Amino acid sequence: MTMSEQVPGTHNATQPVPDRNNATTGTAGGHWMQVRDVAAYYGDRMAISEISMTIKPRSTTAIIGPSGCGKSTFIRCLNRMHEVGLGNNRVTGSVLLDGHDIYGRSIDPVQVRRYIGMVFQRPNPFPSMSIYDNVVAGIKLTRSPSRTELDETVERCLNQAALWDEVKDKLKASGASLSGGQQQRLCIARSLAMQPHVLLMDEPCSALDPIATYKIETLINELKRQYTIVIVTHNMQQASRVADETAFFLAGEERIGKLVEFGPTNQLFTNPTDPRTEAYITGRFG
Ligand code: ADP
Repeated sequence: MTMSEQVPGTHNATQPVPDRNNATTGTAGGHWMQVRDVAAYYGDRMAISEISMTIKPRSTTAIIGPSGCGKSTFIRCLNRMHEVGLGNNRVTGSVLLDGHDIYGRSIDPVQVRRYIGMVFQRPNPFPSMSIYDNVVAGIKLTRSPSRTELDETVERCLNQAALWDEVKDKLKASGASLSGGQQQRLCIARSLAMQPHVLLMDEPCSALDPIATYKIETLINELKRQYTIVIVTHNMQQASRVADETAFFLAGEERIGKLVEFGPTNQLFTNPTDPRTEAYITGRFG
C-alpha cells in the first residue's frame, strides 16, 4: 500500500509515490521532502518555529547547531515521532513526502514511520533477539514472509549496512553481543529492511569511537545513492564529510529554535551568508 493509496485526493500531490512492491522502490528517482513553516511544541512550550526547507532526493542533508537549538525535535517532526510519548506534544505547519502531507488527516503515523525510518544516538538493537531476527523484526510485525524472503532480506540489508562480512557466520548470535559500531550498523540494516523512502539519523555516531564513526560515515555516503538521508550532528567536520546540504539551526533568547541558513554544505562552511552562521562555524559560540 502506498501513501497515495491511503490518502484519496491528497492535496499537493506533485509526484506519485512508487509502489512498495516494485523492485525499484526507494531507488527510482529518489524521494524528497518539503517542510513548510513547521513549529513544534512540548505542551505549551514552543521549541522550534518557522522551519521551511526542501530535502533533496538521494542526498544527505545535515542539521547542525548548538545544543538545545531544536535539531532532535526537528528531525522527529519528519516522521511524526515528536508526537510519541508525551501526549500533548504537537506540530504545526506541514511536512510533505513526495508531495503528500505526512500529517494529513487520514495518514497513519505508524505507516509514516515505515516510509521514513529513524536511527538513534544510542544503538538500540532488540537485546533478546539474534542478529537475524533483529533485521527482520519489523517485517515480521507487518506480514508473514517466506523463509527464503527473510533469508534474502537479512543478507541484502546486512550487506547494504556493510555488516554482512562481519556477522554472516554468527547470525544466530544476540544483537547485543556486537560492538557499538556494529550494533549501529545492525540498526541501520533493521531500518533498511522496511524499504524506507527516507532515513533519519539523530547523532548516529555520538556514542561511537572514531573507527566506528568512519565506517558509519562511509556507509552514509554509500546509502545516499539509493536513499534520502537526513542526519543531525553536533560535529561540523562530520557534516562537511557526509552532507550535500546543511541546515544551521539556532535558538535566540526566547529559546525557540529557528533555521538561520540552509544551502550546499561547501557554501555554508566556506561562504556563509548569515553572520550568525559564520560566528558558529568559526567557533565563536556553541
Ligand atoms: P538539540 O537536539 O539541538 O540539542 P532539542 O531538540 O533536544 O535540541 O531541544 C530543543 C528544545 O526543546 C530545548 O529547549 C529543550 O529543552 C526542549 N525539549 C527537548 N525535549 C523536551 C521534552 N521532552 N520536554 C520539554 N522540552 C523539551
